[in-house]
Amino acid sequence: MTVLDALVEVQQNQDPTLAFRYACRVGMCGSCTMVVNGRERWACRTLLASLGTGVVTVRPLYHFPLIRDLVVDMEPFTRKMKAVGAAFVAKGEATGFAPIGRDSRERRQIDPAVECIGCGACLSACTIVGWNGNFAGPAALNRAFTLMADSRDGAGAERWPTLLSEEALLRCHGQANCTEVCPMELSPTDSILKLRRKSIFQLVSRGRRLDTRGPAC
Ligand code: SF4
Repeated sequence: MTVLDALVEVQQNQDPTLAFRYACRVGMCGSCTMVVNGRERWACRTLLASLGTGVVTVRPLYHFPLIRDLVVDMEPFTRKMKAVGAAFVAKGEATGFAPIGRDSRERRQIDPAVECIGCGACLSACTIVGWNGNFAGPAALNRAFTLMADSRDGAGAERWPTLLSEEALLRCHGQANCTEVCPMELSPTDSILKLRRKSIFQLVSRGRRLDTRGPAC
């Protein structure tokens, strides 16, 4: 029995008002992510047996507005994605499929970071997000990394002002709480460090000082 099975059981037999979110039930959509026994986890992929004996606690994700019971408003997640320009923007005219080989350096660099399912566990675990709601946060910066490393994307120049602002790459303290809880085993921490490295080349090549007054995320 999983934590999600247990919640369904409670809802069906004890408290029909209990609110929680789920969809795929097989660890693909991330919508059932919550804090179980003090740690962000997929409810649908967390076996009660794996939690040992004793009381199992559940609570909604941290750092998101609460709607009801275990359901949170994911608005901060999408707002942060939009703030860093998380949508792919094709470079020039599309002329067919881009020839990026599966073994290419570019592909190997991006692949470990692309499987984000938007569950929000990383934002919930990030103490910097908790301290500063304007921080872009791990998921958005991880997504920005995949785009900035993608030779087909043409919006890098527009993203840099936000990425170089005080509320993005600079703000991360590298605690890796995000990486520890990501159910897809991504490492937003690594993505942020790689983006920071790129940002140094960017600044040097432009002969610019770091502008720390960028827009809020
Ligand atoms: S990076 Fe990982 S923890 Fe964060 S939203 Fe994506 S899948 Fe969830």
